[in-house]
Parts: sequence; C-alpha cells; structure tokens
Amino acid sequence: MTLPEPRPDLGLREGYLSPQVEVPVRLNTNESPLPPPPEWTEMLVDELHRIQFNRYPDRSASELRAALAAFHGVAPEQVFCANGSNEVIQSLCLAYGGPGRRVAVFEPTYALHSHIAHLTGTAAAEGGRHRDFSLDLDEVARVQAAEDPVLTFLCSPNNPTGLADSPPTVGAVLEGAPGLVVVDEAYGQFAAWSALSLIDDERPLAVIRTFSKTWSMAGARLGYLVGPARVVTALERVALPYHLDSFKQAAGRLALKFAGQMEERVALIVRERQRILAAFASLPLTAWPSQSNFILFRPGRRKGDEVWAGLLDRGVLVRDTSSWPGLAGCLRVTVGTPEENDRFLAALGEVL
Ligand code: PMP
Repeated sequence: MTLPEPRPDLGLREGYLSPQVEVPVRLNTNESPLPPPPEWTEMLVDELHRIQFNRYPDRSASELRAALAAFHGVAPEQVFCANGSNEVIQSLCLAYGGPGRRVAVFEPTYALHSHIAHLTGTAAAEGGRHRDFSLDLDEVARVQAAEDPVLTFLCSPNNPTGLADSPPTVGAVLEGAPGLVVVDEAYGQFAAWSALSLIDDERPLAVIRTFSKTWSMAGARLGYLVGPARVVTALERVALPYHLDSFKQAAGRLALKFAGQMEERVALIVRERQRILAAFASLPLTAWPSQSNFILFRPGRRKGDEVWAGLLDRGVLVRDTSSWPGLAGCLRVTVGTPEENDRFLAALGEVL
C-alpha cells in the first residue's frame, strides 16, 4: 500500500502542542482552574433532554448569537461563533488569506496566528516588539507598509507576555492598517479595556473572544468574533455547514447567565496573580507584569528547560516558552487555585 505524502510544507512547522502530562498541578495551558458553576451544569443537563439529536443544529446559531449580541451590546449580525477561537482564526485566514496574501503578527505572540495562516496557504509577515514586549508602532507601520497584510493580528492581553494594548495603541494600528485589524482577546476579561468598545460596521476591526478561559469551558470548544456584519458574512461562507453542534450552542447561551460568577473568578485569579508576582520578588528571576491569567518569567541562575523539568519532577507542569521567538530561557505559568499556586511557589523555590 502506498499512501500519498502529506503536503511537504507541513513538515516545516512544529505543532503548537503543550505536553498533556498527568500531574497534580497543571498550570501550562491558561485554562480556568475552577469548574463551571454547578447550576450551569444542571441547566445544561435539563437542556439536553430538549435537544433533537436526530436533527441538524440551528445552522446560524441564532439564539447563541442573539445572547452574545445582547451581552456585548452589538447586533446578532455582528457575531460569528466557532469551535474555539482557533477556529475563528482559521475562518478569518480562509476567508481573507490564501496564496499571495499575508497576515501581520508581532512576535513574541500567540503562535497559532502565524501557524494557522500557514496551514491555510497564507504567508505571515512577522514584526518585532519593544524590549518590554509592548507593541512598537513604528514597527507595525513598517510591516503594514511593506507587506500590505490583509489581516493584522494583535493579541491583547498578549499570550505569552501578558501585556494588554492601550486604546491609543489599537487606534494607531487601525489608522495605518491596509486591511482588517483583528484583536485576539482570549484573555480580554482580565484587562482594563476592551477593543469591543470600538466595534462598528464602518471600522475595519474585529475582536475575538473565547469561552475557554474565564468561562471555565475549555472542554466545550466555543469561541466567537465580534466585528462588522460584512466580516461575519464572509466567515459564514467558509464555515462548514452545521459546524456548531446543538449542545455547544446551548452550553454557550446558558453560560452567559452566569456572568456574575465569571467576574468573581476573574477577581480571584487577579488577586492570586498579584500574590505570585509579590512572591517572585524574592526569587532569582525576572518576571513581566501581566494583565492576564498567566505570568511570563525567566529564571536567573538556571536554564529555563532545567527549571521546567525540576518543576515537573515536583508535580507542577508549566509552559516551556524558551524556544519561542525572543523568549530564550523563559517559562509561562498559568495562575491556578490558591492551593495550586502555593505548590507551584514551593516547588519553584526548591528548584531555584
Ligand atoms: N487566542 C489566544 C491568545 C490563546 O491563548 C488561545 C488559547 N491558548 C486561543 C486563542 C485559542 O483558544 P480556544 O481555541 O480554546 O478558544
């Protein structure tokens, strides 16, 4: 039997996969450390009895989109839902990218923006950032002028560095953008300001959000975009028919009833983040300020991968970002429950 070779260019790229190791303390993928509210699960079980599983789901996810639109104060026509925000990114690249077209990314940033672009046959023009990882507006203008990107990806707060972009920064990027500016706000609830406030049918701006982090629903795979209605129409043209199953549509719609609990969780994580940063001050490492649910740090005296392995030996899994552009020796830790953070800090103290 001879099987065809897969596309030769796929081999060039490493997948964006963090090891899924069974450990007591998992702080490597920026999930919520807490399960969703039990009342949400009860409502969802109830809903399960009403779902007609022999029928295809509502193709336009109208109830979910209406609920999200009401939540954000936009029109349902300005909301596109998908299986995780990664699928939103893929849909954007399918709709606007392709051979001969480029997206712009500013490294270090979320690896899947350029990776998904590549998978869809779209080139990624990579710009740099300032030394403190804030956006360098001269560099953004240079990349936009030289590369004419159809999509300019921002990530705010930026994964894995933790900084959020300010309103003037996003405004300046929009001003010079030849195409659509996409602000990935997977961690948007942790930041002081959201680009959602700028969404307008006449402005080339879209914001991506996800249920995977603050909503405690990474297992449900649900993300969405808010943007001009014409962008949503373009994304609908590349989405597979019935891509969003009935169960997921109900799960997302019901989750929005628990916004209060979600905000309490955000407040807890922010308090814990500050506690970790305070503890970091007495350890031999450099840490970057974060407006998110994770912290980037570089151990001072030992190599990043050795510290990563030392933590793993002690049952704590963090993300080794040391091979990412500009992040030699760096690790990223997701803020967990108070108990998980205690274990992380104790293990880190021992390893360092
Ligand atoms: N964007 C950013 C910046 C992320 O960090 C992640 C998750 N790692 C995603 C998008 C994808 O999230 P999901 O597909 O689970 O919605």
